Amino acid sequence: MSHKPAKNGFVFLVGAGPGDPGLITVKGLECIGRANVIIYDYLAHNGLLTHAPPDAELIYAGKIGGAHNHEQRQINDLLVNKAQQGNIVVRLKGGDPFVFGRGGEECEALVAAGVPFEIVPGITAGVAAPAYAGIPLTHRNFSTSVAFVTGHESHGKEASGIDWEKLSMGTGTLVFYMGMKNLPHIVENLMVHGRSPETPVALVRWGTRPEQEVLVGTLADIADKSRRAAFKPPAVTIIGEVVNLREKLRWFDNRPLFGKGILVTRAAEQAGQFSHLLEGHGGRVFECPSVSIIPPESYDELDQAISSLHCFNWLIFTSFNGVKHFFHRLHALKFDSRALALCRVCAVGPKTRAALAVYGIRADLVPADYKSEGVVEAFKSLNLRGKTALFPRADRARDVIPSGLCNLGMEVCAPIVYRNVIPEDMPHDVLEALENKRIHCAAFTSSSTVENLSSMVGDNRLLHLLGGVRIASIGPITSKACRELGLKVDIEPAEHTVEALTKEIVSCFAQSPLLI
Ligand code: SAH
Repeated sequence: MSHKPAKNGFVFLVGAGPGDPGLITVKGLECIGRANVIIYDYLAHNGLLTHAPPDAELIYAGKIGGAHNHEQRQINDLLVNKAQQGNIVVRLKGGDPFVFGRGGEECEALVAAGVPFEIVPGITAGVAAPAYAGIPLTHRNFSTSVAFVTGHESHGKEASGIDWEKLSMGTGTLVFYMGMKNLPHIVENLMVHGRSPETPVALVRWGTRPEQEVLVGTLADIADKSRRAAFKPPAVTIIGEVVNLREKLRWFDNRPLFGKGILVTRAAEQAGQFSHLLEGHGGRVFECPSVSIIPPESYDELDQAISSLHCFNWLIFTSFNGVKHFFHRLHALKFDSRALALCRVCAVGPKTRAALAVYGIRADLVPADYKSEGVVEAFKSLNLRGKTALFPRADRARDVIPSGLCNLGMEVCAPIVYRNVIPEDMPHDVLEALENKRIHCAAFTSSSTVENLSSMVGDNRLLHLLGGVRIASIGPITSKACRELGLKVDIEPAEHTVEALTKEIVSCFAQSPLLI
C-alpha cells in the first residue's frame, strides 16, 4: 500500500442536526466531547462547540453559498492530515453527513488514505424543518412516499441529472435542498411535467432555530411570493398535499414567545429552570449570570450554630441557595437532617419549601406573601417572646427578618451561609444580542440581579442597552431596584415566583406582540 498509515488517528463524521442544538445525537455529542480537532460547517450550530474539550482545535470550514471542488479537496486533505498526526478528528456537518453534505466524498478520501473512521448520522434538515413547520412528510391520506432532491442542478434542463418527469408524475412529497436560487426553475419544471399548479408548497428557512421562517404558497405562486418576501437560504422547499396540514399541526413558530429574545439574569446555578419555562413557550433565552455563589469567608459562626441546632426554636430559609448551602455544611460537619428534629422550620415560599423537601424536611410555616416581610408578618400571630431563631443568610441579605423578629422579642442568629459575587463580564453573545436589538425582554428575579448587571456594564450603558426592551421583574423589591437604576418596569406578577413571572411575560407579549 502506498499511503502513510495513521498513527492512531481517527475521524468521526458527525451529523450536527438541523440547527436546534438539542437535535444532535447522544453519540455525536460524545464524539465532540473527546475530539482533539473539530472541523465544522456553517450549518452546524456553534453552541455545540462548547461541548468540545477546552484545548481542542476548532477549524471553521464553512462554505457559504456552495462549495467549490477546490475547497472540498482542501477539506479532505485537512481531515486526512489531522488524522495522520494522530488526532481524534470530528468532522461536524449540518444535518446528516451523507445527505447532500459531501460526506461521501470526504469518506472516500479517508478510505484512500487508510484513515479509520466512523459515521454518526444526524437529523437531516429535510426531515427536521418540515417537522418544526408542522408538516408531516408522509400521511396515510395524502402521501405515501417522499423524495429528497437537490435544487442545485436544475439550470440547464437538458444537462440535469434529475428525472423531472418521474418526480412530477408521482404523488409523493418532494423536499428540495439548496433550492432557493433555482426555485423558479424547479416549480416550472414540475408544472411543465404535469404536477398541478395548485400543489401546496412551503419554504422553511433556518428550520428548528428560533429564527425559523415559513412561507406557504402553491407551485403557481411560490416563486413570486418568495421573491417579494426576499426569502433567503438556507431553506428547504416542501412540495405536496401534506403542506396543508401545517394549518392544523403548526406548533413551533406560533408559540407566544416565538422569535422573542429574553435576557435572563440570575445566579448561574439557578438559571436552568426559568430558562426552560421560557423556552417551553418558544422564547429564545440569553442567559447572563449576574451572580456567582461562593462560600462565606469563614464558616465559624455557621458551624457554631449548626453544632447547637437543638437550642433554636426556629430555622428560617429565604432561598433555594440558603437551603442548599446550609445542608451542604451540615453534612460536611457529619450531621444529617435529624439535627433539625427540635426546630420548627419556615420557608419563604414554594421554591424554598421544595428545596427543603429534598432533604426530607417539611416546612412548618410558609407565609402567604413570599418575601421577607411576609415571614415577619407570619410570625406576628405566634407568641415568640424569648424564642430563638437561626436564619442562615446570604452576605448581602436585607435586614428585614433579623430586625423584624427582634422587634417581636426573638433572639436571632443570622450567620452567612453563602456569598454573592458579581461576575466580571457579560457573555459575548448576550452583549451582541443586546446591541443588535435581538433581545425584547429582560427578566430580573431579584434586586441583586439587576444591580449586578448594572455594575457589570455600568449604569448609563445599562440604560442604553435596555432601551426599548421590556423589563420583567419578579416582585416589588426587584422592581424598586430597577426603578432606582432608571428602568421602567413593564411586567410584575402578583405571585413572586418564576412560574408566575413566565406567565406574565407570555401574556404581555400575547396582548401586544407588535410592540417589540
Ligand atoms: N447535510 C445537510 C444538508 C446540507 S446541504 C442535512 O442533512 O441537512 C445545505 C442545504 O440544507 C441548505 O441549502 C438547505 O436547503 C438545507 N438546510 C440545512 N439546514 C437547514 C435548516 N436549518 N433549515 C432549512 N434548510 C436547511
